[in-house]
Amino acid sequence: MQRLIDGYHRFRTEIWPAERARYEALAKWGQSPETLIVACSDSRVDPQTVFGAVPGEMFVVRNVAALVPAYHPDAGYHGTSAALEFGVRVLGVSRIVVLGHALCGGVKAMVEGAPEEARDFVQPWVAMAKPVLESVPEGEDRLTRAEAAVVRLSLNNLMTFPWIQDAVGAGKLEIHGFRFDIHTGVLDRLGRDGLEPVT
Ligand SMILES: [Zn+2]
Repeated sequence: MQRLIDGYHRFRTEIWPAERARYEALAKWGQSPETLIVACSDSRVDPQTVFGAVPGEMFVVRNVAALVPAYHPDAGYHGTSAALEFGVRVLGVSRIVVLGHALCGGVKAMVEGAPEEARDFVQPWVAMAKPVLESVPEGEDRLTRAEAAVVRLSLNNLMTFPWIQDAVGAGKLEIHGFRFDIHTGVLDRLGRDGLEPVT
């Protein structure tokens, strides 16, 4: 815990003085982020670090494998869908980004099965991607292809939300998919034909 407290003290002494005006403005005027990002909870893939974002710029949703479930309003606890609703309908973001990544434990759990200790919630959560994984061919790069297929699934599922579909149709909202490679620090964009380098 001390490591975290030390980090907080560094934030207060080194970062806060320079950032104070920004935080005060965000407190006074409220947040108006342009981008909503759906990323994985993986500790190595911090979306604000990857995109060089500052506080107030991104509305961040993180879950196992950066998955967006299909629109399915019911009495369940839909954390990701709730964040999408708030970001899109209340905050009015103009962009949604899905950020997948290499070495994703969530995608590995989809392909190879979840670890025994993660069967209560992880297993059923990642099972939503099962149908798309069936189309991913076997081979050395299976996990990379699966990571891209999962980002594609999340992008497709975003369009099952009626208010996202409407906003995209009206030209008020765009959606993008990326995959971050932890080894190299390189970001690829998910294009129509697969992953392509970001230029
Ligand atoms: Zn992951």
